Order: sequence, then C-alpha cells, then structure tokens
Amino acid sequence: FHNMTPNNQHAQQQPSASPLSSPHQSFPSKYPLHLILSKERQSSNIGSDTSSLGTLLASPGLTSHQLELLSQIPSYPSHPISHPSRFAQFIHSLHLSRYAHTQLVKYNIDPQVPQNDVFINFMDKIDEPIPLFMHYVMFVPTLDNQADETQRRMWLDDARHGRILGCYAQTEIGHGSNVRGLLTTATFDHDTDQFVIHTPCVEACKFWIGALGKTATHAILMADLIIPANKGKPQKSYGMHAFFVPLRDPDTFDTLPGVEVWDLGDKFGFHSMDNGMMKLNQYRIPRRNMLMRFAQVTRDGDYVRPKVDKLTYGTMVSTRAYLVAAASRHLSKAITISIRYSAQRSQFWQAGDDGRDGSTPVVIDGTTPETSVLNYLTQQHRLFSVLAETYAFMFTGHYMRQMYTDLMAQMKSGDFSTLAELHGTTAGLKSYVTARVLDDIDVCRKTCGGHGFSNLSGLPQIFGDFAAEAIAEGEEYVLSFQTGRFCLKTFSQVLKATGKECEDLKLGETVNYMKDSKVLLQSTLDAQSVDDLLEDPFQEGQSEDDDVLINILRFKALQLLSQAVTKYQKLTNGQQTNNTSAVDNEMGMDLYRIMKAHCACTVALCFKRHRSKILKLTPESRRAITALYQLYCLNRIEEDISPYVLDGFMNKQQVLLVQDAVRKLLRQIRPDAVPLVDAFNIPDETLRSVLGKYNGDAYRHLFEEAKNSEFNHGKAERILKATLMREIQPILRSKI
Ligand SMILES: Cc1cc2nc3c(=O)[nH]c(=O)nc-3n(C[C@H](O)[C@H](O)[C@H](O)COP(=O)(O)OP(=O)(O)OC[C@H]3O[C@@H](n4cnc5c(N)ncnc54)[C@H](O)[C@@H]3O)c2cc1C
Repeated sequence: FHNMTPNNQHAQQQPSASPLSSPHQSFPSKYPLHLILSKERQSSNIGSDTSSLGTLLASPGLTSHQLELLSQIPSYPSHPISHPSRFAQFIHSLHLSRYAHTQLVKYNIDPQVPQNDVFINFMDKIDEPIPLFMHYVMFVPTLDNQADETQRRMWLDDARHGRILGCYAQTEIGHGSNVRGLLTTATFDHDTDQFVIHTPCVEACKFWIGALGKTATHAILMADLIIPANKGKPQKSYGMHAFFVPLRDPDTFDTLPGVEVWDLGDKFGFHSMDNGMMKLNQYRIPRRNMLMRFAQVTRDGDYVRPKVDKLTYGTMVSTRAYLVAAASRHLSKAITISIRYSAQRSQFWQAGDDGRDGSTPVVIDGTTPETSVLNYLTQQHRLFSVLAETYAFMFTGHYMRQMYTDLMAQMKSGDFSTLAELHGTTAGLKSYVTARVLDDIDVCRKTCGGHGFSNLSGLPQIFGDFAAEAIAEGEEYVLSFQTGRFCLKTFSQVLKATGKECEDLKLGETVNYMKDSKVLLQSTLDAQSVDDLLEDPFQEGQSEDDDVLINILRFKALQLLSQAVTKYQKLTNGQQTNNTSAVDNEMGMDLYRIMKAHCACTVALCFKRHRSKILKLTPESRRAITALYQLYCLNRIEEDISPYVLDGFMNKQQVLLVQDAVRKLLRQIRPDAVPLVDAFNIPDETLRSVLGKYNGDAYRHLFEEAKNSEFNHGKAERILKATLMREIQPILRSKI
C-alpha cells in the first residue's frame, strides 16, 4: 500500500539469504546484489526506519481507523510481471473490477472522489486502470452533482451499488478540447416527451470513452440540446447538456437497439481499459433523462435556464485533484524502481572515490567493484530531481484535495468567491504536474539504461498507463491557457490598484504574491554564497516571504506576467477587443510560460504548507526533506536562468552559485536516496518490477523472469520453431 501503512511491508521484506552468501550458489553472482540495498539503508543518515516520512506522505484526510481498515483489505493476486497480451490484460482487469467492487461493498467504502481519501488509497491498491474506475470517478460524481432530487432517487442508489455501470461520453472523433464543437445532438420530441439522440456524421462518433467498449451499461453523454420550433418560437440549440443514456442490457451485455458500440483497439498504454467508440442512430430516451439539477426542459418544451450552474465545477475539480494525486503515485513507483536499480547497477571504476562522502569503497573478495551508477553526479541530478518532484507533487495532491473540500463547503453556503482561483489553479496544476510526471517517468526509464526498456522493469507500463491520464480531462496546453489567462487577469487587477486598494484586494493564497510585484520586480538577488541560497526554509518563526528560493521563483512568474501585460496592451491598443481568439493565439506561448512559472510557485507553496509536519521529523529526515525542497526550487530556477541575468536580477557569479548549490544538494541527498524511496512504502507486488524489488538482487530477478518469455515455452515455442524451419531454414540451406 502506498502511503498508508508506513513500513508494514518492510518487516516482511528482509533479505531471505544469509548476508554472507548468495542464496543461489549453483549459479553464482559476481557481485552480491542481494546485499546492496540493505547496506544502503544501514549507511544512510535517515536509517531504515522511514515511518515518520511515511506519516508525512500519508493522505492527511485518513484517520487511524481508516488506515487500519485499509490495511485489512487483502491484495488481489498479482498477475505476471511480463506483459501478457492486451486481451489477457483486459480479462485480468475484469476479474480485478469484480474484486474491487466486492471490497468496496464489504468495507463500506463510498466510491466518491476526492472527499474520500480511503477510496483514493483503495485505488492505489488496485493499481491498474480498470473499467469501473470511470464509473467511480466520472459517472457517479456527475450523477450526484447534476441530477435533480427525483433523478438521484431513481439512479444514484443503483449506480453506487453497481447495479448499473457507467462511463462518461463527451469526446468525439472530431472534438475533445473544444466542447462547444461537439456534434452529437439531443433533439426534444414534443409528441413523445422524449429526446432523440443522434450521431449525424463520422466526426460526431463518441471516441476514447473509457469502459464504453465492453463494460458500461449506461453513459452520461454530452450532446447539443435542440428544441424544435414550438409555440411560435424558432428551433434553437442550447449547447452542451448531460444526458443519462442506457446502452446495454445488464442481463446480457447486448447493446440496445439504436446503439452501436465498438472497442477502439490497441493503444499506447491503458491496455486494461476498454476505451470505446459509439454511434447512436435516432436513439430515444425519456425527456427526464436529461440531468436537470441546473438547466431543465419542461413537458411543454420550454427551456429553463440554470439559476446557478457553478456547482457543476465540482466534478471537474475533484477529477483534476484526483489526477494530480494519482500522478505523484505513478511517479513514486517509477522513481523507486530507478533509484533501487541504480544503487545496484555498477559501471566503470572511479579511482579512490566511491562518490559517497565520508564512506570507504566497498571491497569484495579483495577487489573493489565498479562504481554504483548512483554515485555519478549526472545520474544523481536526473534521479534526485525526479525524487524531489515526487515529494513536491505528493504535497500538491494533498493541497488540491483540501482546496476541493473547502470549495464545496463554501459553495454550499452560497460563497463562490474562490471559484475563479480554484478553477485557474486546478487547470494549471493538472496540466503542469501531469506533463512533468510523464517526462519524469521517462527519465526513470532512461536512467535504467537498457534494462529500463524491458517491460520487466515495469517502467514502460507505468509510462503507458500514465500517458493516458496526462491527456484525459484536458490537454496540457489547452488547460494552460485557462491558468495563464486567470493569472494575467489577477495581475492586471493588482497593477490597477494603488496603495491601500492593493493591500485590500482579496486574492487567493496561490496568487497573493502578485501584490508584492512592485517590490519584487525592482529587487535584485543579494545571495553571496551557496549558504545564502540554502538557508533553512523551514526554520521556526520564518515567514514565507523570507524564503529566498520561493521569491526567486515568484520573480520569474511576475516578470513573465509583466511582459505579457505590455504585449497584451500592444495587441489590443489598450481597448476591449472582440477578436479574442486572434489575441489568444498571439499570447498562447506567453500564457503557457506563465502557467509553468506560476505553478512552480504553487508547488513550492504546497511543499511549504507541510512545514508543521516537516518540523516534527527527526533532524536527519528533516534535513533530507529540506534538501528535496531546495533542489525542486533550484531546478526550476536553473532550467530557465537566462532571463534572470538579462533582467539584472542575478549576476553571473550567482548563476554559478545556483549550480554549486545543486551539486551540494545532490551529495547531501545521496546517502538517503534509498530510504527516501522506501518511504513511499510500495510493496513489490504493486511495483511489479524485477529491477526495483525491496531486497534488490535485480539481475537474478531479471534473468529468471526473462526465461518466462512466451517465446521460450509451449505452443508459441513450437509454432516459432516450425516457422523458422519453413521461412529461415531455406536461407541457411541456400534454397532461396
Ligand atoms: C486514454 C484516454 C482516455 C480518455 N477517456 C475519455 C473518457 O472517458 N471520456 C471522454 O469524454 N473523453 C476521454 N478522453 C478524451 C480526452 O479527454 C481528450 O482526448 C483530451 O481532452 C484532449 O482533447 P483532444 O483529443 O481534442 O486534443 P486536441 O485539442 O485536438 O489537441 C491536439 C493538439 O492541438 C492543440 N490545441 C488544441 N486547441 C488549441 C488552441 N486553442 N490553441 C493552441 N493549441 C491548441 C493541443 O495543444 C494539442 O497539441 C480520453 C482520451 C484518452 C487518450
């Protein structure tokens, strides 16, 4: 279990062999890879007791009773590490779906996200994209949020208990990001009191819909609501609305007349999900199947506008919060594999230095083995940067869920004042975090060299599955524009306000720094040494504004915003413009950069929000976590440092200080790298990697598991041999 039951697995994962001998004498290892990780743990500063770090990382909403409950849920028998066919994976995923639902019912876990941290942690245990995931994460919350009271009574109970299983059908072949461009129609038929749902052209086919291919019995379907000419009023389209649409007979899984559905075939990843495609042919549903909590169509065919529709944001925000939390969990798996493997992997000798400060080189059988690749600074830079992001994004996930909970409470009391910030922040963080995590998972793969390319490493599957989550629920750039625009609007507001007006502006905490723009943009960095840059950011009594690194990040965001305001005014001549799309297009790259710089500040803020917990850690753990925070910030500064110099905020000497500080942090983190990934507490059966097992021995596991390739056994081997005889032997015998 990730993050829930700190260290309970480790007790079961101690090396099974005597520390002096290889457990496999008949086929010996040259180097004792089964000992290396335990040595790493023994010689670290943190030590092998990572329970306080586990507590820091655990979902803040979980009570000890819930932790206990989650630890009772047995694991589903894991499937082989090597990749089975997509067909076999989907069959496994159906078994897993049944298991998941049975456990949810048995342990009375409410499948609602993200109010329910238990559910999120439960899904970690399932740890595969399963068709029921769409039901829990999209279908049920949308019904809950957008159905009126009568509809909730009709459908919600069935949905919660799995008597109907749903999907969320919005995207079409021709449109995803531009929801207004969707072409499926829902036309009201006054005579029968029904809606006629229709797919008028190939572009309108629903496409990519998770669980639609084979599993879902129902869909929440988005379609353009059309009310034909009536009572002297002309026909009118009212835009996208959500409909509750039966698709399959739950007794037979046969599709209903008028519904054509197909699984859409093999994909880059997400093999265990039946993403589907659908064409509806003049398909009729009752009028009351339109979700009517907000907008309504009456029996007479009148459209009633929603009084308040802002609550519909709830599902979107909850899904984005879920995706950010899930992103860090995917990354924690990838970085655990890469760091544990890198500690075991050795290449070349580094004369007189094994790269670890203060330690003596290991001597085995009178020879010094080659250097662990984890001792090379370049490897450390790549891996520890990912490690720092993993911690930072975990804290960001906690923060987003808290934001969502606060928002729902505020909105229920009729206060919508923080909605714009929440919308801007969650869109940006979803875009920023998922894009970075995808890149980071690939860094983890590359840092495992050739073995990272094997499916047995587990890394290709993590990448493929996560790539789906990075694109679903909003594409990176399209989402970034929303955040960029929100920041630009807030910043313009700040610029217009003077003195007291500016102080009194009510801004959310993620954008509050903009109030200091005048001071920050006039300032220069006064750090004279590495120590000035690496001042302890978590010390007691220190205010956030005293944090030198966060202020450097904020300078970048403000500098970009200030340039963008000037550019925007130039483009529009300071006037209101009707041609917003042309201006948006010109500003697109600026908005993207603003989103990234702003989100870097928000992620640092989320890290700092965990300060009270960080202060409770042992001094050693606290130092390690502080180093990760500093490395996260310095990497963001270093990756685009030239504007700081061009603007005179930093001098050349300070650029070198940043690089020196990064190197100092890498050396500081090195001894604790293995315990820092152990703290994610991911059992081997969830990790499913021959390279990343808790007890190491990576080569032995790789060797044994590779033997299981289907080429080496049974029917496949026989067919291969016969085909070799038929196709290749003629070449050998020179018969071609
Ligand atoms: C595995 C998977 C599962 C999915 N599951 C579901 C599901 O269950 N239900 C569902 O409804 N959908 C689902 N989707 C669809 C998903 O939500 C969309 O694919 C996603 O939102 C991206 O939209 P798009 O495909 O239209 O991309 P596009 O918008 O076509 O993006 C293509 C390119 O155009 C660029 N672009 C687009 N607009 C602009 C602009 N205004 N300015 C500049 N550049 C622009 C983008 O940045 C991108 O580079 C799923 C997708 C995948 C891959």
